Amino acid sequence: MLDYHLHLWPHGEQAVAPTIEGLAQYCQKAAGAGVTEIALTEHLFRFAQADAVLAGFWDDDPNPALRRTMAAYWEQHATADLDVYVEAVLAAKTAGLPVVLGLEVDHYAGRMDKVAALLEGYPFDVLLGSVHWIGAWGFDDYDDPVVAAEWDARTVEEVWDAYTRALEELAASGVCDVLAHPDLCKVTGRVPAVPQEFYDRMAEAAAASGMAAEVSSAGLRKPAGEAYPAPPLLRCFHDRRVPVTTASDAHRLPDVADRAADLRRLLAAAGYQALTAYRSRRPHTVPMARARK
Ligand SMILES: [Zn+2]
Ligand SMILES: [Zn+2]
Repeated sequence: MLDYHLHLWPHGEQAVAPTIEGLAQYCQKAAGAGVTEIALTEHLFRFAQADAVLAGFWDDDPNPALRRTMAAYWEQHATADLDVYVEAVLAAKTAGLPVVLGLEVDHYAGRMDKVAALLEGYPFDVLLGSVHWIGAWGFDDYDDPVVAAEWDARTVEEVWDAYTRALEELAASGVCDVLAHPDLCKVTGRVPAVPQEFYDRMAEAAAASGMAAEVSSAGLRKPAGEAYPAPPLLRCFHDRRVPVTTASDAHRLPDVADRAADLRRLLAAAGYQALTAYRSRRPHTVPMARARK
């Protein structure tokens, strides 16, 4: 198994440069769950280098409360040094730890060319593509009262449609390798009565772009109460031969490789027998060990 989605810093907490010891602990926790390789994938928006080119992406949103909330969130988070992060992960790799260098890249509507230019020249192994924002609305930060109010102001179909459109644009941009938490729009547990149309669009976007889809236990720690993607969406990915990674999306050590055995069972039920790993942004197939009874 793999854990191809890991953070170093919980949201809202100060970014501290990673140490070899800290990364070794991640590897050890992962190995205990049968995970043989991990990818460090900190959010691009945690870095000052992103601030320079992407700040203000929310300015076109007509809702001033959402714009203010997003601006404050951004200011709090875009502080770390991308070069220090990259050097630390490369040092762990050189020391022989089973880590690869990644980044969780968000969808920046209309600015993905700027994202590509910013990341060019860094030796990333894998780039995750995520949709966390619809305009200025960071819909998965639902503990924030302004964000929560917006959930009540829109229908679930509107939310899923806007989310899926952003995901389609992200996939078509070709900037990233893996679609992270593909049906994140279900994070609060709200799902349209007939979600199939959205599942088809998401799977088609992944297949057309050549991206892999991430199978993540993070949804099990949220109100959604199930892995990303939902079993019917995972079957759509399988039908279209979309490769997959597995991930915990941990932001702290105890969640590393969280419920890896559950993910293995979900994948087996959908017909998957192998995962896809990355080196220098090139995919290669890794067989998946059979689920233990
Ligand atoms: Zn994410
Ligand atoms: Zn993440």
